Amino acid sequence: MPVVDLRSDTVTHPTLAMRQAMAAAEVGDDVWGDDPTTNRLEATAAEVLGKEAALFTASGTMSNLVSVLTHCRRGNEIIMGNESHMFLNEVGSASALAGVQVRTVANDRRGMMDPDEVEAAIRGDNIHHPPTGLICIENTHNRCGGAVLTVEDTAAICDVAHRHNIPVHLDGARIFNAAVYLETPAEELAKGADSVSFCLSKGLSCPIGSLLCGTGEYIQGARKWRKMVGGGMRQVGVIAAAGIVALESMIDRLAEDHVNARKLAEGLASIPGIDIDPAQVQTNIVIFEVAHGSALGLLRLLEAHGLRGSYNGGRRIRFVTHCGIAAEDIALALDVMATAMKEFAS
Ligand SMILES: *Cc1c(COP(=O)(O)O)cnc(C)c1O
Repeated sequence: MPVVDLRSDTVTHPTLAMRQAMAAAEVGDDVWGDDPTTNRLEATAAEVLGKEAALFTASGTMSNLVSVLTHCRRGNEIIMGNESHMFLNEVGSASALAGVQVRTVANDRRGMMDPDEVEAAIRGDNIHHPPTGLICIENTHNRCGGAVLTVEDTAAICDVAHRHNIPVHLDGARIFNAAVYLETPAEELAKGADSVSFCLSKGLSCPIGSLLCGTGEYIQGARKWRKMVGGGMRQVGVIAAAGIVALESMIDRLAEDHVNARKLAEGLASIPGIDIDPAQVQTNIVIFEVAHGSALGLLRLLEAHGLRGSYNGGRRIRFVTHCGIAAEDIALALDVMATAMKEFAS
C-alpha cells in the first residue's frame, strides 16, 4: 500500500544532489573555524538573509535558544505570540536554560500580533519588573496554518521594539515559504529583525540543520553560546554541504508545495464533515477541523488507509506538503479522505 506522508515537511529526505555534495564535501574542524564547507554555507546564508554573518546549528530549536541566550540576560522577560513555536513547542528552553520569563501576546489567525498590544506588554523602568529583553515573531506561522507575515507586518513590530531599544528575533523556520508566496526576497522579510533563524531540514529537504543570522558581533557571541549548549560540531561540512545545495536549488520549487497544499485544501473543503477555508491556505500547511468525532480517531483510520497527518489539538488535523509529495499524491490523499470520512461518519 502506498503511503502518503503529510505529517510534516521534516519527513523529507536529502536529494541525490545533496548526497553527492555531502560525499564530496571538503571538511575541517569547525570549532576551530577550519571547515570550508560550513564557512561557505554560513556566508551564503548571511547573504541570502541580508545579514552580516550566520551560524550553523543542529536545529531550529537550538538556533532559537542560542538567539535568546545571546540577546538576553537571566531575569529578562521576552515577548512572543501565544501560538508561537518558541512558546508551545521548544520544551520551555528559554525559561529552563536561558533563565528568561516568557510573556505572550495573542496571535491573530494569521500569526500576527497587534503592535499596540506588544507595546503595552513592554516593561517600563519599575524596580518590581523584569526588563523586556527580546521580542520574537514567526514567519511563516506554523500553528496559524503556515500564514505569512508581510514586510509591513514585520516592520510594524520592529518599529515598536526599536523605539524601546529592544531587539527582535524572527523565527523564520519556513521563511522561504513566505518569500516564495509573497514573491519577495527573504532578505526583505528579515529586514528590521536583529536576528533570524531558518531551517534547512523542513521544506528545503536537508537531513539536519538550521542557520542563525545577524550582525558579526551578535554571531560571534552566538558562536560561544552554541558551544556552551553542546552545539560546537567538528567536520560538519558533510551536512553543511546539503545546506548549500538547498539554498541554491530547493527554494523556488517550494511554489509546487504551495500549489499542492491549495489543491488539497480545496478538495478537503468539498468533503462533508470537514471544516476548512481554503482561502486561508497560503503556503504548505493545511489545517482543518473535523466537525464531529475525534480527530485522533480519524487519524488512526487514515493511517490504516496509508495517509498520514498530524494531530494539531482539539478537532484539528494538520497536513503539510513537501518535495516528497506529487500532484498524484494529493489526488490519492483526497480519495482516502473522502472514503474515510464516509466510514468515520457511520
Ligand atoms: C520546526 C520549527 C522550529 C524548530 O525546528 P527544529 O529543527 O524542529 O528544532 C522552530 N520554529 C518553527 C516555527 C518551526 O516550525
